Amino acid sequence: MGPSVVWGIVTSGHQLRLYNSLGRQIEAFAPVRDVTGMYSCGPTVYAFPHLGNMRAYVFADTVRRALRWKGIPVRHVVNITDVGHAVADTDTGEDKVEAAAARERRSVQEIAGFYTKAFFDDIQALNILPADEYPRATAYVGQMIGFAATLEAKGFTYRLPSGLYFDTARDPRYGELAQLHAEGQREAARVEQVAGRRRKTDFALWRTEEPGRRRVLRWDSPWGWGAPGWHLECSVMSIALLGPHFDIHTGGVDHRELHHVNEIAQSEAYLGDGKPWVRFWLHNEFLQLGAEKMAKSAGGAPRLADLRTAGYHPMAFRLFLLGGHYRSQLDFTTAALDAAQATLRRLVARVRPLRSAGPWPAADTLTAAAEHAAGDPAAARALDQMDAAISADLNTPRILAALQDALRDPAITLDGQQALAAAADALLGLRLGSLDPGDLEQRRAVEDLTPEELHVIEQLVADRTQARKERDWARADQIRAELDDLGVDLTDTPDGPVWQLR
Ligand SMILES: [Zn+2]
Repeated sequence: MGPSVVWGIVTSGHQLRLYNSLGRQIEAFAPVRDVTGMYSCGPTVYAFPHLGNMRAYVFADTVRRALRWKGIPVRHVVNITDVGHAVADTDTGEDKVEAAAARERRSVQEIAGFYTKAFFDDIQALNILPADEYPRATAYVGQMIGFAATLEAKGFTYRLPSGLYFDTARDPRYGELAQLHAEGQREAARVEQVAGRRRKTDFALWRTEEPGRRRVLRWDSPWGWGAPGWHLECSVMSIALLGPHFDIHTGGVDHRELHHVNEIAQSEAYLGDGKPWVRFWLHNEFLQLGAEKMAKSAGGAPRLADLRTAGYHPMAFRLFLLGGHYRSQLDFTTAALDAAQATLRRLVARVRPLRSAGPWPAADTLTAAAEHAAGDPAAARALDQMDAAISADLNTPRILAALQDALRDPAITLDGQQALAAAADALLGLRLGSLDPGDLEQRRAVEDLTPEELHVIEQLVADRTQARKERDWARADQIRAELDDLGVDLTDTPDGPVWQLR
């Protein structure tokens, strides 16, 4: 990270600190390679991604933006699981993509293609930075077979009629990520009975086809015709595209307990160099719908298209997610989404006049933002607050608060406010520099107001008129800001002020 100049003071910003699930503590993140390698577990393309799924990608995007802010080059890989993920996350039984094809009477290729496109549509709508690579599991089956064969040659596996299994007894550190210290602690769901399996934790590297049950997607292997186990693809594709060791692996917190535990076990056995495979494991919490965590398998969970139909902008959903810290569970409610859309509307209304003040500054990095804020001490202080917030384990709610404060701070110049809005937007990705307020319209009718709400608004409008009569412009402006917060647009006409709800 290069030094930057803030108000004539050289600062390199705050040290980026992230919560590492491996060890469960906050650690300083400093790059150890020219390019930081980052891998995020991607979608299984057998159904529409729902809103809970999207939290993981918005979270990974926040990591990307934080690294960019710190001037750290990143290579990001997100896999597309188009084979191998068995129904209900277990090792045996039907493949999720094949099951969907049978249900929808389409080919597995059609299913995978259709839902892969749905995934890309959603990440684009949510302004998620594109990854450098989106490898598809089906393109790497040959390498997966080679990987599993190496594990077998090293003695980490055993064969059963149902496939090739990883022998977790061979890994003394098995389960460290999930903090599982003894066998038998994983009685929880998703561990099914497999005839001949030595330990409950052992998992399939290869799922051999059952006699008489021919799979649609099938490959020949030293263990018979079949398909790879689900965990294998992430190890193989990440190592193929990022090198044997890389820096950051992200995913939903559900992956911390099983999928990522198994990725680590097989990768470290394969590499055999005694080093931790990946340095930082970052996990986002669930989005709760009612009391349920949103899981794609549960079915019926809302997706982004449903929100759009209901009149919400995708950026309102993004703001709703970033309004909570990624390690906190978030409750998805209509009230919360309404509040997010109203906040976004106010932000865009405040930022809009700044757009015409001059070209929107490039402020993707702290260094660039600091140059734009130079000469404005109040702006430099606000920028430092934003940098402190992103550095403190990606505290996006604090960035939002800092931006809202800055946009109201009379001590900050127009240029400074513009730089701060651009900087916050580089970190949050809300498209503040280009969103059309008209796209965020969700007008409430005056008839919907309660008598109390109506009274408050009319009183404020009257107070402002009085303040203007008394030439108390500061008071008048303050009241206008209060009305703005209530979603009231005020226009002064020769006949007096006219107001309407946004
Ligand atoms: Zn994965």
